[in-house]
Amino acid sequence: MEENMNFHILTLFPDMVMRGMHTSIIGNAVEKGILGIEAVDIRDYTKDRHRKVDDYPYGGGAGMLMQAQPVYDAWRAVSERILGGAAEDCAGEGTRGNGVPAVSDDGRKGRVRTVYVTPQGVPFTQAMAKEFAAEEELVILCGHYEGIDERVLAEIVTDYVSIGDYVLTGGELAAMVIVDAVSRMVPGVLSNESSGETESFEGHLLEYPQYSRPECWMGKRVPDVLLSGNRKKIREWRTAQAEQRTRERRPDLYQQYEKLQQCREILGRKKLLHIDMTELIARGKARLVAADGANICLRDAESGIYFLTAENAAEGHKLFEKIAPGPDVLLVLHQEFLCEPAMEYLGTRERMDCYQLVYTRREKLPVAGLYREEQTTEDGVPVIRKLTPEYTDTVFAHYEMAGDPAYIRERIAKGCVFGAFVDGELAGFAGSHTEGSIGMLTVLPEYRGRKIGKALETYMINRFLEQGYTPYGQVKAGNGISMRLQESLGLYAAKEMVYWVGAI
Ligand code: SAM
Repeated sequence: MEENMNFHILTLFPDMVMRGMHTSIIGNAVEKGILGIEAVDIRDYTKDRHRKVDDYPYGGGAGMLMQAQPVYDAWRAVSERILGGAAEDCAGEGTRGNGVPAVSDDGRKGRVRTVYVTPQGVPFTQAMAKEFAAEEELVILCGHYEGIDERVLAEIVTDYVSIGDYVLTGGELAAMVIVDAVSRMVPGVLSNESSGETESFEGHLLEYPQYSRPECWMGKRVPDVLLSGNRKKIREWRTAQAEQRTRERRPDLYQQYEKLQQCREILGRKKLLHIDMTELIARGKARLVAADGANICLRDAESGIYFLTAENAAEGHKLFEKIAPGPDVLLVLHQEFLCEPAMEYLGTRERMDCYQLVYTRREKLPVAGLYREEQTTEDGVPVIRKLTPEYTDTVFAHYEMAGDPAYIRERIAKGCVFGAFVDGELAGFAGSHTEGSIGMLTVLPEYRGRKIGKALETYMINRFLEQGYTPYGQVKAGNGISMRLQESLGLYAAKEMVYWVGAI
């Protein structure tokens, strides 16, 4: 089985890391092959006869410093393994200026994300854990002594991360904290898929209080509502408790939560047009970049995509200014007048116009005759199941807007792409995109006209509803077949379009 995510920890104390990472939930996930965790001993890469890896800092000062050479060689060996021998010399072409190889031999975008754990880093958060979990490979570099020679850090590190405002003796515990928190976001690691999404920090709220047996302990009773069996009341009670707890214990978080709720309300005034943005908030993935009345910019913590809506071009411009332009920036604009200025701002001509379609009901769609359970038989009716990595090339070959194979590989590895199988053969597929829409709907030519598309779309809608999401998708302007299919299933299209601009 191919792992969903691999961690490569560069350290002087590999035993410490490996001992800590092989128990309980993380240990089970490693055993099942969902996670791969390796500790790479930096000392194995030293060229010093006495296996020395540290030396005195120039200019004096307390303690020793880890030298650049063994750290760089260890990192390079791991990068080459990940990218299949394509790591470039740090000064070579094909690097992104920070020594990270741009593209590997097989054309995969080879950005080896390399985190240096350091008290000087950005504070680690749940949002960051979610973002890292979208990577297939994560390299974590642990310092020791007084730290690491700055020159090698400048070459290889993509993210500087701190686990708190205190100083540890080494980065190993910090790396373990990060591996643990990120792993919980990797599909399949927690037995209950949704449990990672309902707890503290999701949606900027701390989790509500929880109780287990017995009903009465030391004279304290479990709140009646939790024994009522009324799901709606229980949900409302939990939200109210989570809000109160966050307000009292973490006013800083509560402030962000309140701001996002205000945005959600404003965006909800054009519900169909803004469904992508309100769903980001509802699913706890939205980071507020800027908000001034109806001028709002959110960033999806998972995909890094920016979502903007504005009353006019001047207000839109104020929002662009919050985003540093770069080759990877991707914007979803909700007004056409934002397109030209945004393209100019980013220096791109890449643009794609789409309609948003929303399934506004809460009831699931009927499935009889469309798809069936694996163990049943019904002639010509497909079985729908998660696709496994060996289908990556087939999906890439047939999905019209596939773009980057690494993206398809990542979506399949994360368990987000589903195939319809007729007599054991793949007839079509659909999935969910990183930012949260249903998409990739494709029926293989020989299976067209057999309701496979309807089956897949129905499956995805029902799956989203089960997860408590509002199902929505985006259809590229001009794709009449897809529009008609979505509308026949009861999805409503927004009158106005959305515009993808940048690194599409
Ligand atoms: N002299 C360094 C400074 O002031 O930034 C501190 C070095 S510390 C003693 C040794 C190593 O422990 C660091 O290189 C880093 O990898 C790790 N470390 C220490 N505190 C950390 C923290 N709060 N978060 C993440 N890593 C930490």
